Amino acid sequence: MQHTPVLKVYKFGGASVKDAGSVRNLGRIVREHAQESQLLIVVSAMGKTTNALEELFQLAHAGQDYSTALAALKKFHCDMARELNLDADAPPEAVPHVTFGDVSLARLFEQLGDRLATLVPGEFDRQYDQVVSFGELLATVIVARALAAQWLDCRPLLRTDHTWREGRLDWPTTERNVRAEVLPLFSQGPIVTQGFVGGTASGQTTTLGREGSDYTAAIFAYCLQAESVTIWKDVAGLLNADPKVFADPVRYPRISYQETIEMAYYGASVIHPKTIKPLAVRHIPLLVKSFVDPAAEGTRIGDGRHEPLAPAFIRKDNQCLISFESKDLTFISEENLEVIFGVLAQVRLKINLMQNSAISFSVCTDFSAYRLEKLLDQLRSQFTIHYNTDLELYTIKNYDATSIARLTRGRRLLLEQRTRQTFQFVSQTLPAGQDALL
Ligand code: ASP
Ligand code: MG
Repeated sequence: MQHTPVLKVYKFGGASVKDAGSVRNLGRIVREHAQESQLLIVVSAMGKTTNALEELFQLAHAGQDYSTALAALKKFHCDMARELNLDADAPPEAVPHVTFGDVSLARLFEQLGDRLATLVPGEFDRQYDQVVSFGELLATVIVARALAAQWLDCRPLLRTDHTWREGRLDWPTTERNVRAEVLPLFSQGPIVTQGFVGGTASGQTTTLGREGSDYTAAIFAYCLQAESVTIWKDVAGLLNADPKVFADPVRYPRISYQETIEMAYYGASVIHPKTIKPLAVRHIPLLVKSFVDPAAEGTRIGDGRHEPLAPAFIRKDNQCLISFESKDLTFISEENLEVIFGVLAQVRLKINLMQNSAISFSVCTDFSAYRLEKLLDQLRSQFTIHYNTDLELYTIKNYDATSIARLTRGRRLLLEQRTRQTFQFVSQTLPAGQDALL
């Protein structure tokens, strides 16, 4: 009897494709599993490419010279293709010949150049998506060729609305598209596709929010009813803290969907917050494993109960604390709150924490100068508004007295809040150098 291979989704983030050696390592992992599984491989932009594209876009949008930044991005990808021997005969100045049908490295750079050259004032978010999405397109063309795998453009399949930079998925259409277009491809071997991007019905590119490639992996797994999703990372699994910020992190061997959603919500950079729900709905386990040590156990996120977890420490950087006071010293009322919430939603400033007192209402949000300015414009006439920037929001989930003492030591707390499971506070970002591992 023929054995039907199981369908798995793998996701490789920017760090796992940051240089040629990393791409070769990815190839080893894929080859090891491609026999017993049908693999759909979701890949993010290489290394820090998305940040580079954001900077490029900002320069171009502001009418400044971006030629050096564009040349650097091009060189990075061309060097990568060359180091991977994708076009051994390419002369040193040429873009290596890496193609899939009409799509090629050279063509992608032409298109990116055209987009940057034709930006129009305004419509920041829409144009951002048309530019920043190139990171994933470039990465997947290179990775697919290096693996001798199929290249899939996911933009016509993952249908979103027009919420630029955070496209909202049309699930029924996406599921139909993905099943019809992707299932027949598995018989020809592994498939490589882009994380982070989708497309509107009218064919414009959207992005799903920074770090959204995890979410892409979950969308494909949901639609294909995959057996599991594996996110390959540079850490040993899901940890209780970011090792770049906190000393001595511990790995959770098993953790529930619920706990993971909450950690992601509070800003743990482990997994994109939208990833879990589609997987939980279809009971698809999410494995977090190390691409440095692929045989190690990692973390299994899924249904079911587990031991009480060690406290989780989460820091969100670049926060802004905004306080609204009614001008006539009246109490903050439901009517006032309705106005404030309305404008926060409209300018798309997300509330990470909020607190109200008699005459003032405070929110902690991610800082964006552009969005904050829009908010001030609309609300300044009705409220006295104070804000502080350069703040950090700390969350301890499953806290105890020791963990609170450890994190708050030596810090001035601007705002503090405690529920049964979580302790949160906002404090000033410490000057560089004083910010040792906590
Ligand atoms: N490349 C995108 C980003 O850096 C998406 C991702 O990495 O998941 O935000
Ligand atoms: Mg990334």
